[in-house]
Amino acid sequence: MTDFSRTRDLFHLPDGVIYLDGNSLGPLPKTALARATRTMADEWGEMLIGGWNKAQWMAMPGQIGNRIARLIGAEEGSVVIGDTLSIKVYQALASALDLRPDRRIVLSDSGNFPTDLYMAEGLLRTLDKGHELKIVAPEDVASAIDETVAAVMLTHVDYGTGRMHDIAEITRLTHEAGAISIWDLAHSAGAVPVDLAGCGADFATGCTYKYLNGGPGAPAFIYVRPGLQESARPALSGWLGHEAPFAFDLDYRPAGGVERMRVGTPPVIQMAVLDAALNAWGGIDIADVRKRSIELSELFIAEVEAGTDKLALASPRDANARGSQVSFRFHQGYSAMQALIARGIIGDFRAPDRMRFGFCPLYNTPEEIRRAAAALCEIVETDAWNRPEFLKREAVT
Ligand SMILES: *Cc1c(COP(=O)(O)O)cnc(C)c1O
Repeated sequence: MTDFSRTRDLFHLPDGVIYLDGNSLGPLPKTALARATRTMADEWGEMLIGGWNKAQWMAMPGQIGNRIARLIGAEEGSVVIGDTLSIKVYQALASALDLRPDRRIVLSDSGNFPTDLYMAEGLLRTLDKGHELKIVAPEDVASAIDETVAAVMLTHVDYGTGRMHDIAEITRLTHEAGAISIWDLAHSAGAVPVDLAGCGADFATGCTYKYLNGGPGAPAFIYVRPGLQESARPALSGWLGHEAPFAFDLDYRPAGGVERMRVGTPPVIQMAVLDAALNAWGGIDIADVRKRSIELSELFIAEVEAGTDKLALASPRDANARGSQVSFRFHQGYSAMQALIARGIIGDFRAPDRMRFGFCPLYNTPEEIRRAAAALCEIVETDAWNRPEFLKREAVT
């Protein structure tokens, strides 16, 4: 059984703060600071360009990819990191469409994160081959999968509501129709158990600054099923995905394996921070994380609903159909969230009216959840949100 009192101490959390936004940006792992300093002072500072060999910077995308692979049920050698998630989504979809040249439909759902849909739109426009991005309601995905579909591109856990797709079942239907499956695990990695290898998923992507605590701007990851790696052609054929980058050939030949999904120079300092952050997962059973996350989210819903009837649950009530977050609708959700943040309780807001709370068993406690729920109820019951300073919109909500 994972000892969650030990894991909390791995993170720096400012005094007096209850942090329920680790699903958007995980907190600073204490060892990451020293690791970043060491990478900068001892490696960059002393080794200069030699760091690529001596400190093995060049191998880090694959090595860290393997550490992430263990958290998402992926095979060794099937995950590589780099770039941002938006870029990795583009790469996965481009390779998928290339593998199904006779089909024209990309199927996604209205619960997908907008950047995934925007990247798909841009790709389809550039391809100019008559592809169509078909967006259906999350509950209609299964019935919309047919033999016209080239790729089913979904986010496992809906960023806004926490609604969770059944990866195994949707992947099975996708394959039955002869299509390629692409899963975005942005809100899954480090939050819910995922078994990519067991499901036979073709591509997966995700970011590392949410539940994996890699810090703002941490590199994203991409998974390619081992059986597809030699046939998946990279659309973004950068030199570090080349078979021999330092041969400086004038023509592109993809590297063997998932390394072909690398593009350009990886962010070394940010990778070092992520590598340190991943140490938190040593000895942790993701099944324990899931169990505790359900306890925390069930407690939050129960306490909020007992304390007010002004909020409407926007997440599935069934914990098994939900990731590690809970959203409530409130007509003044943005301002109520600002009022909550002013009390040191940090969640976030997603338009048009959703107050979003993420639960991270590595550092959130039941006592915090009770206090957060009580403060939220007090704010909406007393209209404490109705003050000029809480009504002003910031750029990031
Ligand atoms: C957080 C998130 C993103 C963010 O993409 P970036 O390129 O890292 O900014 C994309 N997709 C999903 C599903 C997300 O949850």
